[in-house]
Amino acid sequence: MRFVQNKGKDAGKTGPHPETGLVSGRSSIRAALHALADLLSPPCCLACGQILPFSALPLLCADCQAQLRWIEPPLCACCGLPGQEGRGQLCQACRKQRPAFALARSPLLYGPPLREALLHFKFHHDFAWLPSLAALCRASALLADLTVPDWILPVPLHLSRLRERGFNQSLLLARACFPAWRSRIRADLLLRTRSTVPQSSLDGAARRSNLHAAFAVPRKEDVRGKSLLLVDDVFTTGTTVQVCAEALQQAGALRVEVFTPARSVPWLLKPGSPLPAPGQSQR
Ligand SMILES: [Zn+2]
Ligand SMILES: [Zn+2]
Repeated sequence: MRFVQNKGKDAGKTGPHPETGLVSGRSSIRAALHALADLLSPPCCLACGQILPFSALPLLCADCQAQLRWIEPPLCACCGLPGQEGRGQLCQACRKQRPAFALARSPLLYGPPLREALLHFKFHHDFAWLPSLAALCRASALLADLTVPDWILPVPLHLSRLRERGFNQSLLLARACFPAWRSRIRADLLLRTRSTVPQSSLDGAARRSNLHAAFAVPRKEDVRGKSLLLVDDVFTTGTTVQVCAEALQQAGALRVEVFTPARSVPWLLKPGSPLPAPGQSQR
């Protein structure tokens, strides 16, 4: 799959007023300018490079959108794992031991083209993907499951990793996915106090011991009694957000919920999985 840099024009800002439905003179001029810009420099699909007829988000052609695998109910009432029949039903892992977070939700499975998008964004500084990733997330009905948080906390990077990468992908995702809650985003409430090896290189108990005492809440009074939303890029085993949630619970948080754009469930990406086939569940 070829990934391309895209102009990333935000066509979502044009069109009728969201409440009145009227198109103002200014927005109609903006729409005309966007149309002209599209004519001069046509938008391309971020995943395959195919020219798109217009620059509405997400910048993905129909074929690439059809590859997305949306997560939809029934799912575990707690961790959001799809395929759990029955309202309020918990998956086996959550029945065995309830996580420190009250709820976790992810709109999409970690498969193509989302996986490549997140990897390019995270490791190749391909920020053109960000508005489209956020548009996909905001289209998911699962966002309605989240409690309105007092604070949104991006999963922190250690300072050495932050300097090396230059940005915290979770902070940028939080800003892009929750623009209406932007003033609630706090990157100073949860800190990573020691450098750890990437979780993706480990499995099982090693993931847990890798993160032992890796997070700290510097000012407990700021999270005590608060409802918090943790944001990370991918929910794989849930160990990272579990360890973060434990630190926040120990600091007195009232409730911790988790949002990640993607959830890794490898067995659900296999052909014949119980989720809708690619293309049957697009929005
Ligand atoms: Zn495409
Ligand atoms: Zn669960």
